[in-house]
Amino acid sequence: MTESPWEYAPAPESREAANLKPSYRMFVDGEFVDGGGEPLKSINPATEEPLAEVSSASESDVDGAVRAARRAFADTWSTMPGRERAKYLFRIARLIQERARELAVLESLDNGKPIKESRDADVPTAAAHFFHHAGWADKLGYAGYGPDPRPIGVAGQVIPWNFPLLMLAWKIAPALACGNTVVLKPAETTPLTALVFAEICQQAGLPPGVVNILPGAGDIGAALVAHPGIDKVAFTGSTEVGKQIQRSVAGSGKKLTLELGGKAANIVFDDAPLDQAVEGIVNGIFFNQGHVCCAGSRLLVQESIADELLEKLRIRVRTLRVGDPLDKNTDVGAINSAEQLAKITELAASGDAEGARRWTSPCPLPERGFFFAPTVFSDVQQSMRIAREEIFGPVLSVLTFRTPAEAIAKANNTPYGLSAGIWTEKGSRILWAAQRLRAGVVWANTFNRFDPTAPFGGYQESGFGREGGRAGLEAYLDV
Ligand code: NAP
Ligand code: MG
Repeated sequence: MTESPWEYAPAPESREAANLKPSYRMFVDGEFVDGGGEPLKSINPATEEPLAEVSSASESDVDGAVRAARRAFADTWSTMPGRERAKYLFRIARLIQERARELAVLESLDNGKPIKESRDADVPTAAAHFFHHAGWADKLGYAGYGPDPRPIGVAGQVIPWNFPLLMLAWKIAPALACGNTVVLKPAETTPLTALVFAEICQQAGLPPGVVNILPGAGDIGAALVAHPGIDKVAFTGSTEVGKQIQRSVAGSGKKLTLELGGKAANIVFDDAPLDQAVEGIVNGIFFNQGHVCCAGSRLLVQESIADELLEKLRIRVRTLRVGDPLDKNTDVGAINSAEQLAKITELAASGDAEGARRWTSPCPLPERGFFFAPTVFSDVQQSMRIAREEIFGPVLSVLTFRTPAEAIAKANNTPYGLSAGIWTEKGSRILWAAQRLRAGVVWANTFNRFDPTAPFGGYQESGFGREGGRAGLEAYLDV
């Protein structure tokens, strides 16, 4: 392919829109307060510069927040008619829309994701989750869990850094709609949009204590899930921490849902529309720098079309623009942290050492910040670490298969089971494969589609429980 003869002019979104403050405080019982923990410094991963200081919680703050949530549960939220709760959720959804630009710019600064993704995916989908669940709040009796399903109580929720505001919405919207109150711990590296969300709760007039936000590191997450005043634990993050949490709540009677890691197969059959499949493969692994639990990180391609597909894929990947997350033309932004960049680099090196063939996009990378060029490994064997472990970065592992049965066997040969993709022209093959794939979500001729009406969740080491839609309500009802 010849290089493009012209360059894009920079199209930066204004950083001012983020309304960045020098410091942020935690949110407990309807007030912003200083925490007893060591303050955190959130940095911009695209420049390595500090963005803001964030006060963090201590163990006694966890106790205070859980008590506030308990009072709010008993005194107001659990006894309020669903149609009244719905009004608050609708207000929150509309306020997210009103402050969408601020939230999108702040998310891109704190997380490193391209502004076109925070603007067009994260923030609107977060608002959509509140709209969707606002609609359920007064219709829970028709959700299939009995005529008058009751809330569980106080939910302790811990979320990761890859979709900070969106994971918050997945957690808080169903909890509130069902009449529970929450204490949520955002990830240490991305606490800022959660604290703007706390402002939105104040703006919406949400009764104090219904939502409490406690920034902090992993120890605060551990203290929260272990607190005896919590009735329900909801966690999204790594399988390793998920297992620790499962041990910590065992025997306590707490209800638990875990949304963990993944190593999804994206399967391309020989009759697939190849150009369309290339777009889906790119979206599947390079969206959000590949920091996506359901990323299509294992490409399974039928042998007879592998060379042609890989050639088309490399041509397409070369056009991805890597760089400033606030530039509207950027396709791949910054890796969220130095630790994550080191993890990606180490796993990619294991691919070289185990004999896979590495191809790296020749794109220029910024001199500062945490960046990793889009990378495709071919000649990958199922035993290699890059085929088994979650890389959580812009690295695709390509394997081949000869028959549909071999494709299914390889796709299911993983300890995970969060998502899968199928590319084929045949409807019958889509149904045949979807029935055999052990994955919570199966996309056909598309990838990474998120909708609040569709339940999302895993099999095996990808966790259990569903978030979204009617099925997702079960996690927050006493059923
Ligand atoms: P992580 O290390 O498990 O962290 C997730 C959250 O748990 C963070 O808030 C973290 O705090 C906290 N935490 C750490 N140790 C804890 C402990 N012992 N007890 C309680 N909480 C603890 O995961 P990550 O590396 O940030 O996130 C990436 C992982 O999340 C990937 O494996 C990805 O697949 C998974 N993920 C899954 C889904 C899904 O829906 N299935 C969605 C998104 C991401 P700190 O931030 O301070 O470390
Ligand atoms: Mg940050």
